[in-house]
Amino acid sequence: DTTELDAARRMFIEFFKERHGHRVVPSAPVRPRGDPSLLFVNAGMNQFKPIFLGTVDPRSEMARYRRVVNSQKCVRAGGKHNDLDDVGRDVYHHTFFEMLGNWSFGDYFKEEACAMAWQLLTGSYGIPRDRLYVSYFGGDRTLGLEADEETREIWLNIGVQPNRILPFGMKDNFWEMGETGPCGPCTEIHYDHVGGRDVAHLVNSDSSDVVEIWNLVFMQYSREADGSLRALHQHSVDTGMGLERLVAVLQGKRSNYDTDLFTPLFSAIQQVFPHAVNRKIACSKVADKSKVDMAYRVIADHIRALTVCIADGVYPGMSGAQLVLRHILRRAVRFSTEVLKSTPGSLSKLVPTVVHILVSRPTSLRDRHLSIMDIINDNEAQFLSSLKQGRRVIDRTLQNMNGSTVFPGSVAWSLHCHLGFPLDLLRLMVEEKGVAMDTEALDRLALENKKVRAQTQASEHDSCVDLDVKVLPELQGLGITYTNDLPKYQYSLG
Ligand code: ATP
Ligand code: MG
Ligand code: MG
Ligand code: MG
Repeated sequence: DTTELDAARRMFIEFFKERHGHRVVPSAPVRPRGDPSLLFVNAGMNQFKPIFLGTVDPRSEMARYRRVVNSQKCVRAGGKHNDLDDVGRDVYHHTFFEMLGNWSFGDYFKEEACAMAWQLLTGSYGIPRDRLYVSYFGGDRTLGLEADEETREIWLNIGVQPNRILPFGMKDNFWEMGETGPCGPCTEIHYDHVGGRDVAHLVNSDSSDVVEIWNLVFMQYSREADGSLRALHQHSVDTGMGLERLVAVLQGKRSNYDTDLFTPLFSAIQQVFPHAVNRKIACSKVADKSKVDMAYRVIADHIRALTVCIADGVYPGMSGAQLVLRHILRRAVRFSTEVLKSTPGSLSKLVPTVVHILVSRPTSLRDRHLSIMDIINDNEAQFLSSLKQGRRVIDRTLQNMNGSTVFPGSVAWSLHCHLGFPLDLLRLMVEEKGVAMDTEALDRLALENKKVRAQTQASEHDSCVDLDVKVLPELQGLGITYTNDLPKYQYSLG
């Protein structure tokens, strides 16, 4: 029930506020303000970037922050931290999740940060010590970065067994916000969901038996545009713990989807989608050939992301964060129509359940669920109509291919640009017909697209530019023309 969730969240906030003098700061919206280096807020520290970098306006309230605690809405789809492809495949990566965090801006450093984290987990939350492992930065010789032996010592002094303190390299234990920005070595706490054996080898593997729950970053550098590391004016602490993973630990569940944050959504999916069967095995190792389990996870995850993003003013669209959101929506629609055989309008019916689960979150959610549903329905209808049109174009192309078994890249590219088909979807649709995609031609067009975009200074995340001069003649050769009545493209099959 949701009160238990609130309790887990509240315990974190209260611990740092009441016992360790932190100031509570509200979550920022998921769309970062004034930071073009980010598509979405990907960590609790984003809103504090100017403090780390020393660029904060000295007259602002933020300039006085020393110890801060918060729970931040995060989205990791696109940009440096992009988990979209993992979502649904595993049971602990989401596109939208909540990150609990505490910060020290030039105040306490490694020793206190580790001690507090350990005290909270093993004391307040009562997590058994013999289920926890910690990692620290093992250094990087080529970059001239030393191993963080200090942190290893700190964990030993706290009483962690030496075989549970593990060094890792840049990928896992040197945290960076984006291509540029604050960064530094980190120490992480991992939870063993099984117990009773040594699983040090599973830390930072892809196993769902041992999952990273909390990251404590020691901010010491800024990654500059030229790739170099610049030492920051002061040492800071930046931590982040995923609420969904914490709740899974506290509720003794192997999968985030088996916790109170998701089970009401699974029930709603079962009710809303007429042919769905509730497999109830969000964490099953049983083969999921029909992808029903995966569909449950993808839909439950994506509807949360859609609801929160739209509430924060990011609508599905054609570039940047909006394009990413459109991709999320289309992925959800595909799983709901193709796997769960839904009828149009089903997806949006899940929105009230999302709002109910996240009810203690900002009011923008509670007040706006009807308009959020409308936006989802409109976009779903648009995609379904594109799918229909796309299928007809694909069929017509197949008829006119004169025995070739390679699907022309020009047609695929056109559908991608004009109807917004994700390329991976097109490939699947074509392969289902027993034909291979001309990926070479597609790669060529993508490269060209990149060049044109660079010339016009369009952003990396803009949807593709028109390469009509290239693809039109080929399409006509296949008996396909289209009219470009922006914003709508209409294909006609001659
Ligand atoms: P992982 O290695 O599991 O991908 P990460 O190292 O990328 O996680 P951090 O950047 O260290 O994650 O973020 C801090 C914490 O936020 C993690 O320890 C985890 O609890 C949580 N977290 C990160 N990514 C996700 C996600 N996609 N979904 C849910 N929780 C996440
Ligand atoms: Mg990650
Ligand atoms: Mg990690
Ligand atoms: Mg991490």
